[in-house]
Amino acid sequence: MTEASDIPIRVRPEIAALPPYKQGRQAGDDAFKLSSNENPFEPLPGVLEAVQAATALNRYPDASAARLRERLAERFGVDIDSIHIGAGSVSILAQLVLATSGPGDEVIYAWRSFEAYPWLVVVAGATAVQVPLTADARHDFAAMTDAITDRTRAIIVCSPNNPTGPVVTQAEFDQFVAAVPADVLVILDEAYAEFVTDPDSVDGLREPGGTGRPNVVVLRTFSKAFGLAGLRVGYAVGHPRILDAARSASIPLSVTAQAEEAALASLAAEAELLERVRTIADRRDCLAEGLREVGWRVPAAQGNFVWLPAGDESREIAAAFEGAGLIVRPFAGDGIRISVGEEESVEKVLRIAASVVKDLP
Ligand code: PMP
Repeated sequence: MTEASDIPIRVRPEIAALPPYKQGRQAGDDAFKLSSNENPFEPLPGVLEAVQAATALNRYPDASAARLRERLAERFGVDIDSIHIGAGSVSILAQLVLATSGPGDEVIYAWRSFEAYPWLVVVAGATAVQVPLTADARHDFAAMTDAITDRTRAIIVCSPNNPTGPVVTQAEFDQFVAAVPADVLVILDEAYAEFVTDPDSVDGLREPGGTGRPNVVVLRTFSKAFGLAGLRVGYAVGHPRILDAARSASIPLSVTAQAEEAALASLAAEAELLERVRTIADRRDCLAEGLREVGWRVPAAQGNFVWLPAGDESREIAAAFEGAGLIVRPFAGDGIRISVGEEESVEKVLRIAASVVKDLP
């Protein structure tokens, strides 16, 4: 095979330096895959039927996903132009960063947070400004406000924060956005919003019409609560002018007809799917409580995952979970994220977590 160094194509150095995207490990039949915050429930029969009925594979899909936009607009009390659909919310995130931020521009976000953020900023050629989380794994809005400069173009706020778990409160968010210049985009990433049970949490779509702030875009996804991670469909709610810019920065036709049909069928079955979400949220609370009882300092867990602050022992402890048939996600030197999976996995996680907690400094 030709060595990469023999190929005279000039790849942008910052792209060449990027590590490949690390996906949560796949699991064999005898292991629980708790490494990608997926929904452990299988698709509803009605959702599968809707996907199977979309048979015109020789035709391109509707580029604007108008039916899904219309349905979501109705659902959240906004105009259809205030909704944008993407092949997963991560693709909309990329569009928003590309549309607002290029070389010399800064994008602020809390860290640690979703691993795609630094990667998207590098691809856009912009500069990432990472603001460390507080000791209890929450956004530090005083420090984030201080980080704003005249080069800031976008700020990403993740609530609940992946991988640590706590939400941003509505009061914190409102106060923060009031301090952000009107020409800076605030992306409120609510990928796990449906799992939230804390009444003080921010909810960008609580009020009909969205946040009422033109520089805030709310991101949601069908991947987590609605269990459609494999189909890739997410959405943004925000000002039409910002969403038009995202569309301009998008790769056209990336949302498939199957994804749109599955999302529509999921919205038609929303009550049943949200019942499952409640089951997962209850399971999460049991898991977090059980982990705290055996001595882990688990921060508030409001997504479909829990965080073990295992520090330098993260890799080693994750390997112990793996040895017991539990595929979890270590973040070297920091902690381990464990998704809330099948009911039978909970007791197993607690057993292994209890056996390794004593190894902590
Ligand atoms: N935001 C956050 C915080 C996430 O954790 C994820 C998925 N891990 C996403 C966005 C992207 O989800 P999707 O592209 O599947 O909609």
